[in-house]
Amino acid sequence: MKTLKIAIQKSGRLNEKSVQLLKSCGLSFENYKSSLITTVANFPLEILFLRDDDIPEYVQDGIADMGIVGENVIAETRSDVAYIQRLGFGRCTLKIAIPTHSPVTQLADLEGKSIATSYPVILKNFLDNQGVQADIRTISGSVEIGPGLGLSDAICDIVSTGGTLRSNGLKPFADVMSSEAILIGKQGIAEDPVVAELKQRIQSVLLAEETKYVVLNVPKANLDTILELLPGVKSPSVMPLAEPDWVAVHTVIDEQDFWERINKLKAAGAQGIVVMPVEKIIM
Ligand code: ATP
Ligand code: MG
Repeated sequence: MKTLKIAIQKSGRLNEKSVQLLKSCGLSFENYKSSLITTVANFPLEILFLRDDDIPEYVQDGIADMGIVGENVIAETRSDVAYIQRLGFGRCTLKIAIPTHSPVTQLADLEGKSIATSYPVILKNFLDNQGVQADIRTISGSVEIGPGLGLSDAICDIVSTGGTLRSNGLKPFADVMSSEAILIGKQGIAEDPVVAELKQRIQSVLLAEETKYVVLNVPKANLDTILELLPGVKSPSVMPLAEPDWVAVHTVIDEQDFWERINKLKAAGAQGIVVMPVEKIIM
């Protein structure tokens, strides 16, 4: 297989999770902070460490074959790249925020107002779709201080908890785009065997992360009720116990409604419930 290149963020919010994901896929590599490129010892891949802003264009232009980057950056750079896999981390929302006591109450009120942002392309597109014309002021960082300094009437920035907004006297007003990290590839690369293999490994890691392995002891009399509460990968394994009226049920369950399901299982008579993380699920 031909060796490919993948670009990931050098440092910042996506770096650690990107490195961790590749390592969970069984890739073995040194992660020196100082180097810009590293070779994977046991897979035909080189890793480039870049500023996130540069990743979509590097992939579009084929300098890297793949990349891991936020959807917000892909949209802002208007890069022509293929989405290979959503990765479920780096989740955030690009929002318009206004001063707490702003007279703005609906999107139309932004007509003619100034909005400071590092995302002028995405914001313009959003406002155009809403039929609103505003004065977009592009600044590269610390957008949230714009209204306080009298630079703008509103801002458009990435918000996760809203803490930064509050401490600058701002409140969220409208959602512009939600984003997560994506594995992208240059157009046409999805069929490459290295890409296909990496994608399959990533999917098995993501699936495993959403899943817990559960073992529970169940009185035989309650087994049917319990099994109805347990849709496993195929079907749960039921094993005999030394105690003749009891069996052990082994299965995997979804992280999402985990507690709800466990509580129902307890109510249905399950005992001694042991929960374990799952490393990989190969379908
Ligand atoms: P670089 O130095 O690589 O240009 P950066 O400062 O532009 O980094 P980071 O702040 O590290 O970017 O964020 C990288 C990506 O993480 C964002 O583009 C976004 O997709 C995602 N992200 C997730 N949560 C947040 C958040 N709370 N604030 C900002 N970005 C977030
Ligand atoms: Mg950046």
